[in-house]
Amino acid sequence: MTPERRALADARDRLGRDMLAWYDRNGRDLPWRVKGGPHPDPYRVWLSEVMLQQTTVAAVRDYYRTFLTLWPTVTDLASASLDEVLARWAGLGYYARARNLHACARHVAFERAGAFPETEAELRTLPGIGAYTAAAIASIGFGHRAVVVDGNVERIMARMFAETRPRPGVRKTLGDYAAALTPDGRPGDYAQALMDLGSLVCTPRSPRCAECPWTHDCLGKKAGIAADLPAKAPKVDKPVRRGVAFVLERDDGRILLRRRPESGLLGAMMEVPSTDWRSDAWDTAEALPHAPTLAAWTPVPGCVRHTFSHFHLELSVLRARTASGTNVEGTWADPARLDDHALPAVMLKVLTLAFGPAGTASGGDAGSDLGSSSSSDSATEAGSRARAGTH
Ligand code: SF4
Repeated sequence: MTPERRALADARDRLGRDMLAWYDRNGRDLPWRVKGGPHPDPYRVWLSEVMLQQTTVAAVRDYYRTFLTLWPTVTDLASASLDEVLARWAGLGYYARARNLHACARHVAFERAGAFPETEAELRTLPGIGAYTAAAIASIGFGHRAVVVDGNVERIMARMFAETRPRPGVRKTLGDYAAALTPDGRPGDYAQALMDLGSLVCTPRSPRCAECPWTHDCLGKKAGIAADLPAKAPKVDKPVRRGVAFVLERDDGRILLRRRPESGLLGAMMEVPSTDWRSDAWDTAEALPHAPTLAAWTPVPGCVRHTFSHFHLELSVLRARTASGTNVEGTWADPARLDDHALPAVMLKVLTLAFGPAGTASGGDAGSDLGSSSSSDSATEAGSRARAGTH
């Protein structure tokens, strides 16, 4: 460590006090947060932290309230079916989180009599709980000292310590810096203070250093390079995958859906049947053998584009009608009740393209900004679904 960085680490206690004083004055009021009171219920901390992984606070608020209303305790959540949980999660993206949420709730409710473990090590043995979430629950929910490191904290540490090497290679070093500054007192409040500083002041672009409690210590600010940190690794282009979706409508207006496999992308969610998603384009003749039934399939003009965390997807859509009584595998969904099904945003886009904004179940404005537009499988997905009037 350079002498300047060593001096920062040595100032840990003062920096911690400054940060906590700032938090007491400026910390956000959030539905899952208890400011100035006892530790919040670990169930609420866990639920909010799982929802917030890869997602914004704004996108999570309504989901969090809905979950707590439906399932006020971990035992209530464990008693719900996976289908119910997935349906209520639909739109938040990264659906493995919802499956792990349900598995974790069942473990805590039925194997541990409803009590979350307190230590990071034990918490990490639960489904879906990694290093960050374990540290957050241990510190916020139980008041144990733990080093909570997410993207916000990495950014703050890169700037405080003027670390110019790019992530991900420097990630461990940024965690070491965070550990060096984590105080012994009020660890939960300190963790939340850093989360708020990252959201409100030390923002990715144009940090508001004049409002920062660490403004006189920050090495990145002193060097005039804070806004350029953390350094970015060269961007790798995401590949494009392509597929064909088959929208089959029955005489009574119901639409064929099927369940995706339990594991993998969008695991256990519902979908419009489709071909595999691959890099090569499909032509119609090649795609038709993958259709759920023989029918007069006609192409729908346009294309659905959707971005997942590691690839872009382009789906063309074929549409057909079939008679009641047709024997196909899947579920015939009432288009007026699509909210009952765990349909990810990409599938809502497919239905919107096939039927138009007024044609999907969730009302006349369903997905008016969906169709061939792009969005991602994370916070943007939540936004898309919310705008579509489904939550
Ligand atoms: S002084 Fe500026 S760059 Fe440094 S931690 Fe504070 S807001 Fe971030």
